[in-house]
Amino acid sequence: MNISELNLLVVEDDAFQRQLIVNMLHSLGATNIAEAADGQKAIDRVRDTQAGRIDLVLCDLSMPQMDGLEFLRHLSAESCKPTVIIASALDDKLLSSADRMAKMYGLHLLGVAKKPITLAYLKDMLSNYGKRDKKWQAPSAAAPSFTLEEIAQGLRDGQFEPFFQPKVDMRSGRLVGAEALARWVHPSLGVIAPYAFIPLLEQHRQLDALTFVMLQRAAEACRTFHAKGQLLTISVNLSLSSLGEAKLADQIIRMVKQAGVDPHYIVLEITESAAMTDTGQALENLTRLSMHGFVLSIDDYGTGYSSMQQLTRICFGELKIDQSFVMDATQDAALRIVVESSIEMAHKLQVKSVAEGVETQQHWDMLRDMGCDTAQGYFIAKPLSLSAFNEFITSYKTKLAPAAQLKSGREHVKLLVVDDDDFTRSIIVRILRDLGFVQTRDVASATAALLLCESQSFDLIVTDVDMPGMNGLEFAHRIRSGKSHAKADTRILILTGYSNSELLSVALALDVNGFLVKPIVPAVMEEKIMQALNEKLHLRPPLAYQAVVTGLPGIHNDAVSKQPRSGAAIIKQQPAAAPKKHHGVSIPLRQLRAGMTVCEDIYAKDGTLMMKRGQLLTELTINRLHDLSGFLQATSFTVEEASPSA
Ligand code: C2E
Ligand code: MG
Ligand code: MG
Repeated sequence: MNISELNLLVVEDDAFQRQLIVNMLHSLGATNIAEAADGQKAIDRVRDTQAGRIDLVLCDLSMPQMDGLEFLRHLSAESCKPTVIIASALDDKLLSSADRMAKMYGLHLLGVAKKPITLAYLKDMLSNYGKRDKKWQAPSAAAPSFTLEEIAQGLRDGQFEPFFQPKVDMRSGRLVGAEALARWVHPSLGVIAPYAFIPLLEQHRQLDALTFVMLQRAAEACRTFHAKGQLLTISVNLSLSSLGEAKLADQIIRMVKQAGVDPHYIVLEITESAAMTDTGQALENLTRLSMHGFVLSIDDYGTGYSSMQQLTRICFGELKIDQSFVMDATQDAALRIVVESSIEMAHKLQVKSVAEGVETQQHWDMLRDMGCDTAQGYFIAKPLSLSAFNEFITSYKTKLAPAAQLKSGREHVKLLVVDDDDFTRSIIVRILRDLGFVQTRDVASATAALLLCESQSFDLIVTDVDMPGMNGLEFAHRIRSGKSHAKADTRILILTGYSNSELLSVALALDVNGFLVKPIVPAVMEEKIMQALNEKLHLRPPLAYQAVVTGLPGIHNDAVSKQPRSGAAIIKQQPAAAPKKHHGVSIPLRQLRAGMTVCEDIYAKDGTLMMKRGQLLTELTINRLHDLSGFLQATSFTVEEASPSA
């Protein structure tokens, strides 16, 4: 960008300092420089487009009448916002909050300069002008550029469509979803990427037209994948500028439902700055979308201006680590720490971690070792047109071939699905049959299940918890304590959200073989089932299970045993501050091994006792601790090694 082509505005109440900055700008080659002595005059000048549109504002913060902060707020409401440099003599803390504020207002801030400004600093700042986000850089100097009208015409002519980039589960290697990325399939220029149209549409507040085209086409594609038995989730990008629109959530909900897609399968990727926006309207939209089952994802995590506190305000379910961190993390130790701690944070907040920009086997291996859940990037595939993506689905071979992939023998496994919700039950049964579990039965209540068990035996039972009549925990309780015709060691998977720690604590005490969370993703379900089937089950004596109480507040409990509470289940207390007397060593979860004994009580974050000290760790209990890792207070555990004689 040639500085002589820019329209600059210097906002500074002190005439001497103003002149100083103007002189420096002149010496750097600027020719069009307007001046204003306070915020009001500056806003008047910005609005006066006849005098020329202002590209860049250099602005002081302390000024009479309208100060710099108020000026920036007004500026953010303008349809064409100039880029901003803040210059001030205020202390660093104040400058950094001004910086944050400007960004939260959606202004593009080139930098914050502490006065006195130097020529070198100004030159440096100006050289960044026009670079904006790396994300929006054209691939080459010869890349085409378009006017707003050309883009709008292309939209009216239906030339925009989603390309689909696969998302793969890193533990199983299975395809779990795709991100829909906008492409302009131009009649003469070919396929054009978003850098050429999104910034302009967004700047002119016309992005919604594209958003709805993308949503509509992505939802339709999603329905066809599902109809073919591919229960993929589809991600659609949602920008900050759309979230201020009052009707947005309702429109999205209506559109997706009309397309015949369960919103649980639609992920909305919101750029981090968007998710951080402070306005009530955006939060209302996000909350409503989440209430209706949409999964909210924080896109480009790490590039925006988040704080942990703001993060937790939004009910998001996925964190996408930006490719700029991922791609160089194999070379750069500092970036590796950023990526690893982002994954850790996602797990602590119990949301999925997704890495973008996975380009090589090295990236893949690094992320898998860090425990990242999902990968997206050229290593798997570039964004593909719908037809190419359909071909990809059929030809895709898992990146990893875990032992759990063994398909043979599945036809002999006997499964039972117990859920009072007909829709969920039918989806689960369909997935199971697709996965090769052809001997799958299903019933709508625990009572019916117990009855069926009198005449038939099952290898594995998938049961809902909250059901009228007998709840799923009581059902599991009867099986484990030998009070049913089912074998006590029948594998049991519990269908639940990770939202009720008391429920999880009871399930742990009953030695269940895993948890399944809605929406049911086939790859995850397959992995959980294979894990449950292959897990070694060390059952305790029936009496130990009989003592577990399965009636919980808020969960149906008409048919519950009335024994006193015992075992680890549901004792709420914070660990005492008094020093715990234990020997043993503290080791992280991933180093736990069967045969070790836990030397301290293990608590959920809300203080519910999940596992009592003295318990021998088995493969099963360690697997459950992994399942619940994001949910527990501790990330490492004090254990005693098994004695060599044992
Ligand atoms: P994003 O949401 O972060 O999408 C990921 C971008 O990274 C995509 O660029 C994708 O093609 C690219 N990418 C994926 N894997 C790799 C890799 O391994 N290496 C490299 N070098 N790049 C990779 P794309 O398609 O150009 O999209 C750019 C951005 O445009 C997106 O970033 C998203 O923010 C925005 N965008 C795309 N479609 C839409 C849309 O429909 N609505 C809105 N609001 N924004 C969209
Ligand atoms: Mg995205
Ligand atoms: Mg991204």
